[in-house]
Amino acid sequence: MIKQWALDVLCCPKCAGALATAEEGVRCEKCGKTYPYENGILRFVEMDNYAESFGFQWNHFKKTQHDSANEYAHSTRRFLAETGWNEQDLAGNTVLDGGCGNGRFTEIALRMGAKVIALDLSNAVETCYSNMTEAGFTNENFLVVQASFYEMPVREKSLDKAFSLGVLQHTPNPRLSLEKIASLVKPGGAIAFWVYEKNWKMWMDYRYYFRTVTKYLSKNANWKLSLFLTHTFFPLAWVLNKYLGLPGKVISRVFLPIAFRRVHSSMGYADSKTWTLLDTFDNLSPRYDLPISEKEIFQWLEACGFGGIVRQSTPGLAVKATKK
Ligand SMILES: [Zn+2]
Repeated sequence: MIKQWALDVLCCPKCAGALATAEEGVRCEKCGKTYPYENGILRFVEMDNYAESFGFQWNHFKKTQHDSANEYAHSTRRFLAETGWNEQDLAGNTVLDGGCGNGRFTEIALRMGAKVIALDLSNAVETCYSNMTEAGFTNENFLVVQASFYEMPVREKSLDKAFSLGVLQHTPNPRLSLEKIASLVKPGGAIAFWVYEKNWKMWMDYRYYFRTVTKYLSKNANWKLSLFLTHTFFPLAWVLNKYLGLPGKVISRVFLPIAFRRVHSSMGYADSKTWTLLDTFDNLSPRYDLPISEKEIFQWLEACGFGGIVRQSTPGLAVKATKK
């Protein structure tokens, strides 16, 4: 059963009518359209779509980045640094995780006491649901929704907060995606984004050269390529990053076509390689990769009626703001 707290913020994506529980799942009280609720997931989209590579990715790397499944607490550190929110900010709030993937950040928000609508376009929602259930959460506190930002099944001005970490640049229209998410937040509510930053440094990254080809490849071809690149270059990246100081890190970053990140240096060899493979596939396979500049995201948020816009001091472009 979908709980009342969730029905209170959901709406029909076609006509914005109220939704009520029905035999099939939920039914729009205005236009009569029904949406299925199966295996813990409320679905507003059916077909495979541009987010397919993420479905594959997050169903394969089911728990790799989940803090409850490793000792790194990397997702918690990222969440705290990128949103700037703590438990006091989140406890009792109704919050959207926009582009939840397999739920690595949904889990953090739930632990901090929020009620979370975890929304994603890809079939990673299935892993998100099983991960949250296995972590001990129930539909008293979360609902997993498969839907598009462009046909949002959430009422405008209904949420206390919304966050979307690492997602906007992978949508076909990042500005429109931001506007759709922003419209859901109540006056006085808050929003947080982390996106790939558009600046000169992005051209140091192998991915934008590889992607001129790889964005057209199938997910299976990208998977094989990511395996090949990781198996070939990871051992060298490991040595460069672990033992050769700053010069090693620079050489690795500029010349090796894999996603060896700073955080991977602090892990054991096998975990570091798994995270590198995950991030390499994540670099090469998405249909869209459209970085955003600081100036753009500040302007977009202002145009959506947000103030108190702050850039967080953490790698990448993390911004939070409050709705006026
Ligand atoms: Zn409707």
